[in-house]
Formats: sequence, structure tokens, C-alpha cells
Amino acid sequence: MARPVYLDYNATTPTDPRVFEAMRRYALLDFGNPSSHHAHGRTAQLAVDEARGWVAELLHAQPEEIVFTSGATESNNLLLLGLADHGRRTGRMHILASSIEHPSVLGPLAALSRQGFDVEFLPVSGAGYVDPDEVRLRLGIDTLLVAIMHANNETGVLQPVLEIAPLVAESNALFHVDAAQTFGKEVQELRALECDFLSISGHKILGPKGVGALYVKRTGGKRAILSPIIHGGGQETGLRPGTLPVPLIAGLGVAAELALREHIDREKDALRIRCEFQKYLASVNHLVNGDLGRMQSHVMNVSFPGVDSEALMLVLRDSIAVSNGSACSAASYRQSHVLAAMGLKADRIASSVRFSWGPGVESVPFDRLMDAIRSLSGATV
Ligand code: PMP
Repeated sequence: MARPVYLDYNATTPTDPRVFEAMRRYALLDFGNPSSHHAHGRTAQLAVDEARGWVAELLHAQPEEIVFTSGATESNNLLLLGLADHGRRTGRMHILASSIEHPSVLGPLAALSRQGFDVEFLPVSGAGYVDPDEVRLRLGIDTLLVAIMHANNETGVLQPVLEIAPLVAESNALFHVDAAQTFGKEVQELRALECDFLSISGHKILGPKGVGALYVKRTGGKRAILSPIIHGGGQETGLRPGTLPVPLIAGLGVAAELALREHIDREKDALRIRCEFQKYLASVNHLVNGDLGRMQSHVMNVSFPGVDSEALMLVLRDSIAVSNGSACSAASYRQSHVLAAMGLKADRIASSVRFSWGPGVESVPFDRLMDAIRSLSGATV
């Protein structure tokens, strides 16, 4: 039986064979520990250096500003929990975050709030983004951090981080951007962005799962304000101890290098699929969730009035793999906090499906999708 066409790239992407080749090499052949001083160790260290260089290059950062982690979840936790001591020391206990952040930001924020931090959530418009004026209004002298994701994982809507960055820079606060969904995709924006911390993930850009990085801006050669959240050896300048997973890091490096070289072509392909999708969509009753003008070209979150998204996914299970809600919270189906924050009504949320595509998706059986939508909406009216 043919496998369904995979349209869930925001959940994860396939691994590029060129990435896998690098991983193979550093698993089977050059398997040394980069902390070792012998030849095996040095070869592994060179691979880590090279990967760090590519990740930095893609962000227009310095290699020393990249801390490898197990993924964006850990990067977000390291940044938020690792900043708490600094906040307490300096008496800055106020944190601003968008209300549509990923659970890996919301979770540590809840922990900080239980520890006495004043966590304030910024509203988003019906179009799915934060208004920079809302940040300006709420920034105070005791604001420790502003955390705004770059693109929302459920809607693909890009947040105005380039406009927010100078507002935060003028204040006492630090700026964190969760770029798990934009690293290697919104390359020019990210290279232009000035922030203090930024989280990225490997498996959203044809890289391996289980690896990512935290960008930590260095000022005056120092990045002392973050404390580690796990303790051990001195790897990653003590901020993230543990033997480096060289195959994963080498894979991330190759994925970053490929994204740098290929992102313009990938963008064109993604737009081509979006245009085709839109043509088909015109034939059914639908509502796009979020501002299309600010949406990444490989994602579309769409509600089909009168159609239950669970039923649609069931009908489509042999032809198209899509998701309702994000994969991270899908184990326990809860109404999307993102769509709810945008003010969408429960029935519109219950009929929403996220489609996301990327390299490797050639053609999509959109005709079958439209047939399924028509038959389900017919059945419920
Ligand atoms: N932040 C965002 C915006 C994401 O989309 C994801 C992945 N769903 C994460 C963080 C977590 O990334 P990882 O899977 O690398 O832990």
C-alpha cells in the first residue's frame, strides 16, 4: 500500500540523505569524543567546529555564540530557567511572552511563575501576531526578558520580531526568540535580527531529531548571565555539560549548510505548492487561520466549516498525513491555545487542520482532499 503524502513538516521533516551520510561517518568511523586529545578526539572536535560554524553562519553569529543542545525544547528551558538567578540577583522579576508560545516556552514560564516571577502574556490579533506596541506598553524597568517566537508552529504566522528587537534593546530587558520553525527558512530575517538568545532545532530542516542549539549573544566576550540547568563536565563552556553527540551535531551542521545553499529554491517550491493548494481551496468552504501575508510559504492552517478535523484526518489517513494542533500536544487532544488566543470560536478550532510541506513533496492529491471535505461537510449540514 502506498504511504500517504506527508504534509506535516512543521512536526518534523525527513532526514536528508546527505545529512545521514555525515551522521554515519561520525557514528561508525570517526566516533571519537571531542574532549579527547588523541587523533580520534581531534577529528570529532573538527566536525563539531565545522557544524558550529555553519549554524553560526546561517544566523550571522559568531561560532562561540552557539551552544549545542538536544533541541529547541532544551534550548528554551536552558534560556528561561538559566536566566532565573540573574533575574533574582538584579531584582528583575518581570517576563513578557506572547500567548502563542510553544509548550517548551510556556512550561518553563509556568515554573518561573511558581518561583515568584511575574509572567505577563501578550495578546495576539485575530490575524495571529503580536502588536509591537503591546510590548512597548508593557516593558518596565524590572522587565528581565521578552520572549517572542519567530513563526508560530501551528499557523506559520511570522511575528514582528525585527520591529520588537529595537524596543527591547532600548530597555533593560533581554530578548529571546524561539526560531525552531524559521531557522534555515527565513534566512535573511534571522541574519538581520538582533536578539540576546535564540533557539533552533535540527529536525525541522531535514536534520536529525535530538539536536538543536541556543544562540547566546556575547557582549564584551562574556555570556556570564546564564546559569547551567544541568551540571557536569565543562563542555559547551559549562553551560551545557555532557559528551557532545557528534553524529547529531555533524548532521545539524550539514542540514544548516544545505539550508543556506538551498533555501531560496526550497521557498520557490513551497510557494508553488501553496498556490496550487489555494486554487483547490477556492472550490470548498474554508477559512485560513492567520494572516496569509505574514505566513510562511510552507504552512497553512485552514478551517473547514462544518467539518470535524478528526473525521477529516481519519478519511484522509491513507492519502495525506496532516495534523490538527501541534504534534507536541497531540498526545492529549486539547483545543489549540494558539487559535484560541487569536479569538477563534470553538467550532472553527475543531474544524482546523494544519498543512505543512517541504523538500521532497512533489505532488499532493489535493483532489482527494477536496472530495473528502465536500463529502464531510455535506454529511453534517
Ligand atoms: N518551539 C517551536 C516553535 C516548535 O515548533 C518546536 C517543535 N515542535 C519546539 C520549540 C521544540 O523543538 P524540539 O522538537 O527540537 O525540542
